[in-house]
Amino acid sequence: MAKRRLVIGGNWKMYKTPTEAATTSKALKVKLINVEAVDVVVCPPATALLAVNQILKDTVVKLGGQNLHWADEGAFTGEISAKMLKDAGCSYVIVGHSERRHVFGERDEGLNKKAIKALQEGLIPIFCVGETLDDRERGRTEAVVREQLQNGLAGIVVDDPGSIVVAYEPVWAIGTGVNATPQQAEDVHAFIREFLGQLWGKATADQVRIQYGGSVKPQNAEELLGQENIDGALVGGASLNADDFAAIIKAGQSVS
Ligand code: PEP
Repeated sequence: MAKRRLVIGGNWKMYKTPTEAATTSKALKVKLINVEAVDVVVCPPATALLAVNQILKDTVVKLGGQNLHWADEGAFTGEISAKMLKDAGCSYVIVGHSERRHVFGERDEGLNKKAIKALQEGLIPIFCVGETLDDRERGRTEAVVREQLQNGLAGIVVDDPGSIVVAYEPVWAIGTGVNATPQQAEDVHAFIREFLGQLWGKATADQVRIQYGGSVKPQNAEELLGQENIDGALVGGASLNADDFAAIIKAGQSVS
């Protein structure tokens, strides 16, 4: 089977003021001028979305939010709606990042509502799953990932495989400098694809992109992205630096 088109995302988390984000975006714009073979997304903090969109809107780089609320609007202090993200230029949104799950206590039920809302609004959810180190050491990786998918994607029927992205992000690999080995990641990706096949049918599951996230760097990107079931990367730390992020994207181009 031909390799699925890779999708490489940069999650800038709570880094970069609008001014700093604009500087990085200008550098990316120059570095990514010849990128055609992979999809690229950057997810800046909400305050920087407009500034980044202004710079990257006519380039290959798409814009994503880091979170959304499931309601259209309302008295939800500190939250951001799908409509607000779209108006700021977003076409993607991260749902269920491990920091949202583990630092902010987000649960499967709310993440399910967020994924449903994103899909209804035509935003592509990057739906994140992944086990903790404790889960892995107890041999519970597949059970945990299955439960996160089962609950988080409950009631979602996907006809267009391009309408959603799943990100496998082992918690022990995020921001630690320790990436999953290509084989460890490939094994879980194959498991996720199999599970998505049960949910949405094999033909759809074969086309859905599954990103790997967890200490992806220029040095390990090519080997990870070369795995059969790894269809891109969600990059935190290394995406903050335009040179490193561009090098990861170019690694993606070279395996495409
Ligand atoms: C992330 O934030 O999704 C992530 C994978 O971070 P890092 O690349 O820094 O491990």
